This record gives sequence, structure tokens and C-alpha cells, in this order.
Amino acid sequence: MTVRIVEVGTARSRPGEIVYGHFDATPLPTGGADFFPVIIAQGRSGEGPVLWVTGNIHGGEYDGVATIHQLVTPDLIEDLTGTLVAIPTLNPAGLRTGERSPYYLYGRDPNRLFPGLSGEHPAEVGHLSAMEIAYSRLFACIEATADFLIDLHNFGSVSIPFAFRDPVFYRDARDRASAQRLQNVVGEMLRSLGLTMVNEFVSDQYLKLNLHRSVSGATLNTARIPAITVELGGQRVVNPAHVRAAAQGIRNVMRWAGMLPGPQEPVTSVPVIDLGYPVRRIQHPRVTEACVVHHLVQPGDRVRAGDVLGRMVDIYGRPVGPGGGLLRTDYDGFVLGLYSGLAFYPNEAILGLAVRDEGTLVLRMPH
Ligand SMILES: [Zn+2]
Repeated sequence: MTVRIVEVGTARSRPGEIVYGHFDATPLPTGGADFFPVIIAQGRSGEGPVLWVTGNIHGGEYDGVATIHQLVTPDLIEDLTGTLVAIPTLNPAGLRTGERSPYYLYGRDPNRLFPGLSGEHPAEVGHLSAMEIAYSRLFACIEATADFLIDLHNFGSVSIPFAFRDPVFYRDARDRASAQRLQNVVGEMLRSLGLTMVNEFVSDQYLKLNLHRSVSGATLNTARIPAITVELGGQRVVNPAHVRAAAQGIRNVMRWAGMLPGPQEPVTSVPVIDLGYPVRRIQHPRVTEACVVHHLVQPGDRVRAGDVLGRMVDIYGRPVGPGGGLLRTDYDGFVLGLYSGLAFYPNEAILGLAVRDEGTLVLRMPH
């Protein structure tokens, strides 16, 4: 084997060291540029797999930053085989303001701006936002160097930590087997992580929502590199127990990948829910009218079809809508997290629910 040289922006790996650098992202009209901070930690031999860990593409989601800070320490290098590339924030402007989107994207979701499936978007670079150009340059680095990627997020206002499993798409029938192999590796990666596992929206919904242009979606479906999204706790706060669990989970993935020695660490600081069958996320229940919502469940609660999950009231606190304002679920499952806010508009969902998934995770691309 040979020493792997991993170069991201100004950071260039050195065996047995942690190096720091920056990757120029968005030039600012007032001078200077927003940059993505880059940390590269490499084991002494310089050989072995390369894992990327990215965080905070949604500016109000802080646990990824804290997890990376907790993960990358001089101790890690002692035992490390291979290379860890960590980007604490993929959205420095959003981190400064605490907003999901950087102010210069005017509300667009930055986690839908990574390159799409090959051939999907003509390369009209002139029409891309500065952020899309930065992400596509960074994506080229991911594509060239990563063996695995983990992207860190936070979900709702409060949530249990969990990891999303994205579908893998294929174009031609002859690509099906390799898509299945890729999906199998994702499954192993998720099992080693040790957190609650939830399948993403599937099929046309996944593509319609541009989830294949998320950090992990693009890494998985465009670059064909195993990648997962980890959702930690609620937004705009650091959840220490969840950060600890995320760092443990990532070290477990590194053990599975042969990057760290020793047995898996059981994740004990947070609930890990396994109903014995695969689940996917849905946004449910939804309010039937404009109202104020009182949530009546907590993240991690098991629910059965017919259970009441929330109540719709008016600003005076009087029930509104059918059934005395009670929002019941149509499904068995468990609560992932509550959506933030008290005031809801018609048809908005009040929480994220995990329900039985009967779909497949390897799908032919729709034409
Ligand atoms: Zn997010």
C-alpha cells in the first residue's frame, strides 16, 4: 500500500498528524470569502480508507459541529488507520445567523444544491448560484477521495437521534446488481453506527424533493460512494448526550471500516428504537386548518393507529377543526421529532413519524 495524499482546499494530509485548512466557498461583495473549514486527520502509516464527516449545511443545526470537535483529537490519531476528513460547517453564513439557509441563498435549501445525477443537469455554470459552484467544487474532492461519507444534521425542535438510509437509483437493468451492493454497504455502515435507522422518502418523492442533491444523496447516487445522513437532536441548540452518541457511532463506523481497532462501543446515552421491521419517515399528522398546535407526544414515543398526537386550538385556546381538534395518527410507529413552531398553516405537518416501510431501497430511475 502507499501513503494516500488527501488534499482539500489548503489542507494537505500528513501521516500521523491533524492538519487544518480552508476551502474557499463564496466570495463576499464586501471583500474576503466564506470558506469551509477543513480538518484532515491521518493515521501514522498514511494508508487505509478515507472517511468524510460533514456538518452544519443547515446553519441552525449545531450538533455536527460539536460532534466533529469532540471526534477529532490527538488521541484519535494514536489508533487511526486511514484518513478522516472533517468539515465542521458547510454553511458558515447560516451558522453565524442561526438560519437554515445562508442569507445569500434567499431561503433556498443548501442541502439540495449538490450536483444531481449525471446527465441530469446541463453544465450551465453561469446560471448556478455561488454556493452551488462551491458545493460542486467540493463534491469533486469528495468524489476523488472519499470511501465513505457521514453528513450530520439536527431534526425539528426536539428529536431522538437517528440515521437516514437513502434509496440507491440505477439507470439500466445491468446496473441493478451494483446498486444493490452499494445499498448493502450502506446497510452495514448504518448497523455499525448503532443509532435508530430510518429509510428516507422513496422513489419519485425522493427525486421530486431533490434529496438526491443533498450531501449524502449526491455522494451516494451521483458519486456511488456509501453515504448516510445522521439526524441528531433538536435545532439551534447543542444536545450533549446526542453529540456523545454521534461521536461513538462514527467511531463504530470507523471500526467497521478498519480505521480504528477494538470492539464496537454500544450507544447507551440515547434511545435506539428497532421495531423489528424497516421504517421510513413521513410528515404526519397534518393540521386541517390554520391553528395553534399543542403536541401531545414526545420524540421516541411509540404510537398506534388512532392515537392522539396533537391538538388544534385557536389563539384563545379553544379547540378548532373536526373531532374536537384532536389530531390522530393513521399509523403504527414511533415519533422521530417534533416540528418547531406553535402556529401552523393548513396542511402543515406537526411532526416526523417513523412507520413501516414496505418499499424497496434499490430503484430504477424514473424516465
Ligand atoms: Zn439538516
